[in-house]
Amino acid sequence: MAQVQRMSRLLVKTLRDDPADAETLSHKLLVRAGYVRRNSAGIWSWLPLGKKVLDNVSRVVREEMDAIGAQEVLLPALLPKEPYEASARWEEYGDLLFRLKDRKGGEYLLGPTHEEIFTLVVKDQVSSYKDLPVMLYQIQTKYRDEARPRSGVLRGREFQMKDSYSFDTTDEGLAESYRLHREAYQKIFARLGLDYRIVSAVSGAMGGSASEEFLAPAAAGEDTFVDCPNCDYAANTEAVTFALTPVEGAAHPAAEELDTPDTPTIESLAELLGVPASATLKNLLVKVDGEIVAVGVPGNREVDLGKLGEHLAPAVVELVTAEDFEGRPDLVRGYVGPQGLEKVRYLADPRVAPGTSWITGANKQDTHARNVVCGRDFEVDQYLDVVVVEEGDPCPKCGTGLKLDRAIEIGHIFQLGRKYADTFQLDVLGQNGKPVRVTMGSYGIGVSRAVAALAEQHADEQGLYWPKEIAPADVHVVAAGKALQTELALDVSEKLAAAGVRVLVDERPGVSPGVKFTDAELIGVPQILVAGRRSGEGVVELKDRRTGEREELTVEEAIARLTA
Ligand code: ATP
Ligand code: MG
Repeated sequence: MAQVQRMSRLLVKTLRDDPADAETLSHKLLVRAGYVRRNSAGIWSWLPLGKKVLDNVSRVVREEMDAIGAQEVLLPALLPKEPYEASARWEEYGDLLFRLKDRKGGEYLLGPTHEEIFTLVVKDQVSSYKDLPVMLYQIQTKYRDEARPRSGVLRGREFQMKDSYSFDTTDEGLAESYRLHREAYQKIFARLGLDYRIVSAVSGAMGGSASEEFLAPAAAGEDTFVDCPNCDYAANTEAVTFALTPVEGAAHPAAEELDTPDTPTIESLAELLGVPASATLKNLLVKVDGEIVAVGVPGNREVDLGKLGEHLAPAVVELVTAEDFEGRPDLVRGYVGPQGLEKVRYLADPRVAPGTSWITGANKQDTHARNVVCGRDFEVDQYLDVVVVEEGDPCPKCGTGLKLDRAIEIGHIFQLGRKYADTFQLDVLGQNGKPVRVTMGSYGIGVSRAVAALAEQHADEQGLYWPKEIAPADVHVVAAGKALQTELALDVSEKLAAAGVRVLVDERPGVSPGVKFTDAELIGVPQILVAGRRSGEGVVELKDRRTGEREELTVEEAIARLTA
């Protein structure tokens, strides 16, 4: 038997106006509908309705983690400095980490994520390959001193995360633990009712190899990703590739120099010659571990330095400065062309394919060259995807023009490998009696962020409409106001609760029906049952919050419908 929650006793104060500091839809609605309340920047209280939703998300996460054999634990959030010093993250996290001291001057942090501590727990508890694989998880409060805590619970400084960690002796074992998590995440986000995409990610500061992000498309999202409107391709903007397609058979006239005074930029050159920027070849000079290299891209495209850095890592990529041109007469600033650049390694975007013809610098002041053909007049030493992806670029899978969309990162899975096991010498006794180093995965879901992502994706002009499994109640019963209506509303509520339906009933005396309806729409319970005009005949109205469809039914029919 479920409980009937009476609005008259519920700690909820709905607001008609958006909070002044709110920028995103979920922030506005979760505050206005009384789910959360801000305490200070990035720090939030979960009020009764919000706590129910948060718990529902946690329950789904917990059920699916248990289903893959992961075991729930609860580790502290207040952690000693030493393990994070050992992994170097005490430093690497920089300002993101909340650091504090105890009364004896001992240094501590509030955990932003727990790789170190889980590694130590497993080192302490596990000694043989027979004890592995093991997957552990917790649903716990995390702390990160975010630079711009905004968007409500979407980006908190204190927030709820499900973090799990897998421990295996072999790479195949790790791949299997990763696969299990990936599938569990697909089930979780489907059950939560979130629209999401899986994109491959760059693992950044975490280190390690395979890594994917789960993104929920939403205007409030802080991540940009590419989405194919035709096929299932979706990717991080940094991961988009462009196929190298040599152009064959075209007869190009011989290259020739052009007098182009005062045209050190692509814009000035294109204007002088009356050609589109895309007909020109832009050659960006950068330093790779101190060596000057040129990067060629079509003149209308930008080089994505982040992407370039990822390709060339661990080499360090820097921009050139004026001093780098000293003693280099071969490098004419603003007039660089790949033809005759003998001493410089030439990297290029695949759009600069063999057989394509370009207008580019002639390596002489105020001079350019045209009909400069790739493969004839210059060679590319290495092709790399380095341009900033743009809307309409071809999908690498099907060729359709890609869309650029915004999304919220709701989950992230990593194959960490042996990074932390190496730091803490996490070995177990292998089958052959020799120690084996353990390999790890780490997997996160933003539990509190998921509530915001859900709100972003399930809202309209009137307010929220929660998916059933996540909603704070199954049905919101509204007593229009008269004694008879209230009596019927309470009676129906009791009957529904007895059948296991979670009921929120608005029987507030002295509150107008209009206010009650507005609140019901704002709060967003999936079904709204109104005891109104025809209560005397035992007839109620049932409304689907999301579709707005309404139907008059007898009390018995309504109960049958809601308990089906
Ligand atoms: P972001 O890029 O958004 O800062 P992240 O990549 O640093 O996130 P992870 O370390 O991968 O985050 O953490 C796992 C999950 O925790 C994320 O996928 C996200 O859903 C959630 N999360 C991370 N930071 C926050 C935050 N400040 N508030 C709420 N949830 C967060
Ligand atoms: Mg992440």
